[in-house]
Amino acid sequence: MHLVECPECDSLGAICDEDGAGYLDARDISGETTVDPESTACAKCGVLMLAGFVPTSSGRVIEAGFSPSEFEGF
Ligand SMILES: [Zn+2]
Repeated sequence: MHLVECPECDSLGAICDEDGAGYLDARDISGETTVDPESTACAKCGVLMLAGFVPTSSGRVIEAGFSPSEFEGF
């Protein structure tokens, strides 16, 4: 699992490294919130697909209230 952010609006999402599942809300990564990153647009600005999000910096992750140990791939 790694966190990604929308380059347009800084919205935080997450993508699973194992099965490629996407999550528009990085705080809610239960099985019920899984989306297809290729066909799901940013929930906030709607401009970019989740697949087009960029990797989030570890500083941003901490700022958002996450523990870096929870996520990999920074
Ligand atoms: Zn966005």
